[in-house]
Order: sequence, then C-alpha cells, then structure tokens
Amino acid sequence: MARICEESHCHSQEVVDVCREVYGENNYASKPVASKDSQGGCKCTCSCLAFDTPVADSPTSMRAIQEFRGRSESEPGDFVLAAGSSLQWIQKEVLFSGGTSRGAKQPNAILVEYGNDFIVATADHLFLMPDGKLKMANRLSVRDQLVRPDGQTVQVTSVRMGDYYSGFHHIATSKGDPKGNLDDHLLNTNGVVSADYAVQLFSDEFLDETHNDLPEVGTAAYEEVYGPPQKTNPHELLAGGRIVSGRNGLSPLSPQTVSPGRTEMAFLSVGESLTVKPIFVPAEETRVVIPPDACRFISDGDAEILKLQPKRSMANLTPLDDANGLADHFHSFYPDVVYHIDWADGTVNAFAWVESGVRHVALKGGLLRHPAIQLEATALVIAHELGHHYGGQPTFPEGLSCEGRADYYGANIIMRRVWFGDFYLKMMEPAIQQLSNFFQPNPGNHGCGHPSRDCRTSIYNAAIELRPIPACAFAE
Ligand SMILES: [Zn+2]
Repeated sequence: MARICEESHCHSQEVVDVCREVYGENNYASKPVASKDSQGGCKCTCSCLAFDTPVADSPTSMRAIQEFRGRSESEPGDFVLAAGSSLQWIQKEVLFSGGTSRGAKQPNAILVEYGNDFIVATADHLFLMPDGKLKMANRLSVRDQLVRPDGQTVQVTSVRMGDYYSGFHHIATSKGDPKGNLDDHLLNTNGVVSADYAVQLFSDEFLDETHNDLPEVGTAAYEEVYGPPQKTNPHELLAGGRIVSGRNGLSPLSPQTVSPGRTEMAFLSVGESLTVKPIFVPAEETRVVIPPDACRFISDGDAEILKLQPKRSMANLTPLDDANGLADHFHSFYPDVVYHIDWADGTVNAFAWVESGVRHVALKGGLLRHPAIQLEATALVIAHELGHHYGGQPTFPEGLSCEGRADYYGANIIMRRVWFGDFYLKMMEPAIQQLSNFFQPNPGNHGCGHPSRDCRTSIYNAAIELRPIPACAFAE
C-alpha cells in the first residue's frame, strides 16, 4: 500500500479529521491513512515542518508555519511568499494548511543545522539544493549546502534524527498535482528554501532516480559514509545535552531533560505537561539498553547477517505504527509487561528480560524494517518474547523459558489468547511464512538455545495443529 493516493484524497479536511479520530489529537503526524482511489488501494499521510518554523509571508516578514490559514469555503487563504527554481519571490495564496496540534510526538524527525539556525522537519520534507534539485531531509548530510532565498548557499553543519515533541504543520499553494513544475511551490523556511506540501506529496516527479539510494539519516549505512552525528551547536549545552527547538524568541529554550533509554515510557505517560515546550530528543538518547542476559528472538550471529540485508526506509513509519498497535493489543492481555518499540535502533532482533522484578519486551527497528517481517510476523515475535516470560519449563538459569518453549507457548497459547476465533489462523499462517523467509538456514543451537529454522517452523505448525512440541525443540 505504498502508493500515495490521488490529490483529491490527501488534500481534504476529511483526511485531517480521520487522522485526529484514529490516532488522537496529539499523535497523528506522519501516520498513514489507508484509502482507495480510482487506481485501487493507496495511502495518505497525516502531516512536514515543525511548529514555529518561520516561513516568509512577505519580502520583509515571517510567521510561524502553523499560523497560515488555508483557503476555506467562506474565506481566502493567507499569503505566503513563493517562488519557482528562478527564486523570483511573489505572494501566493495558501490553498491548503493542515497539521497536528502542539504536543505530538513525531518519531524519525530530522533536525538540520546550518549557519546559526536550525529547522526540524519530517523525514520526507524536501529542501532545494544548489544544483536546482530537491533532497529529502533524511538524505541531507554535512557535505550538503542549502539555498538561501537570494540564491546564496549555506553549509549544513549537522543532520540528526530523533523524536520531536511538538506539532507539525504543512502548507501548499495548490491542491493539485504540480506535474513536475516547482513554480510557486518553493518557500522561504527559516532562511532556506524548501518545497511546499504539494511537491512533497508528488515527490516522485521531482527526485533523481538515484535519490532514494542515498543512505538515510539514522542508519548504519549513513554513519559509515558521514560519520556519527555531530554535536556542534551551543544550544545543546543550554538544554543539558539535548537539543531544544525554538529560535529568536519564538519559543524559549528549556532546560528540560528527557530520561534516556527505557524510561522513555514513563516520560510519555506523564504526557502533555512535559511537552509544552518543543523538544528534540536525538535517536541515540532513546535507545533502549538491553541487558546482556536478555533472551533474544534470534541469535546474535544471525542478527549480524540480517543487519547487512536491505531494509525498508525509516521514513516509512507503517511498521512502527503496526508494532505500536500490536503492543497496545498484547498489553491488554499481558498488562504486567513493559513494551518497548525501539524504532531508531537498527538491531535486527527482539528481546525479553526481567529487571528489578519488572518484565520487559523490546522490538528493535532493524527487525521491524526487515522486508520479510510484516504485521503478522511482528505479532508472533511479540508472542515469542512473552513466551519467555510466561512459557514455564524448561527455562534458562535466570528463569525465562527456553527458546523452543517460548516459540511453542507463544504460538500455541499467547497467540490464541490474543487472536480469538478465526483471527488466530489468519495471523499464524502468514506469520510462519514470513518468519521462514526471515530465519537464517543454520543447524540451530542446542538445548535451551534457538532451534534451527526448520525446527522453529515445525514448532509453530505443531502449535496450530494442537500437537505436542516437537523433539527438535530441545535436541542435544
Ligand atoms: Zn527468544
């Protein structure tokens, strides 16, 4: 369902309404909305620029992006300063304006620093490059220059990926397909030129064929080419090591800090009061630290092999939404477990552990982005990890169930509890298929460790057919 819907779908107030209803007022930035247009199944995306990003509305003034009104039935839209590739700026009416409310959490947001300024954008926001081409925020690097509204260039000094706690907003000077023409679709966004939402929706018309092969910010491939994220800007120091957005008095810098790693959930549950001020939490601060004795879904060796395989884009947040939805669902049946969905981490694995008497399950982004893993397999992975907690004997010395036991209990009991009636088979059969494409062909560990690929598949099938656990599960 990767295809973006036709304009009539994604540019309507109905999409914004659906986003609010389905995902909640504060959580719909970048979420997908499944729909159908004349060509069949497609998706719209709920909302690109962070709240308070200054956008020029005249040659001499700027205003925060969320303050632009789009055209309505009764009133014309506000004016925004717009240009094409020639950078001849004129005032154009804003035909579309939409976004989230303040306090949303935007995963996979990109913070770009240049000159003495910075901008926070969704991963797919498009910036004008000196060669006249466009580049997505999540493909920018410190080797790039951005374009000033007068055509001068400014060096990018840092590009980082992380969670952004604030609203996101987008505006467009047309509701239609720009048909590959940038005229009137470039904006002056905080002193650099970037494209409006109409261009973003139809980005395929504007991007080089090779654009999507560029490594994405936040991935191991990106760090290999450009090195680890830079920490250059003094406002990080003001924020106690965290970058806090807000510039030129639009919103004050805050000394607020966010607890890193696994305490993030506690941070989130406290909610709005902590997110009144926009805050950018770099991805490296949100990594969930896994204790060395945690149980794994696959062996570290297999995880290393799978890490080298191609992955889905980090900007495609569907697997993250699926995983969050599944975690909510499993939580209602197994509420004594803390579920961590660590999207920013490229590790291809999932984990179960007990710490200070609290049960944890963690899914890493590399697993969720592996092309073999779809929603059904993700569900079975969660069931496996819960199987470590609740599967009983035989166990590891620390008390969590052995791998084969976790596979069997997860597939046999947990999946049946969570997916009642016909849903059980509808989840299990595709899950087994997906995992058989995911597991590495190897003889497996013995005893309490991971069984071979074929054995794990046979354990899942035994669970479906209500047969005892196969002997291979614990073969010496
Ligand atoms: Zn395991």
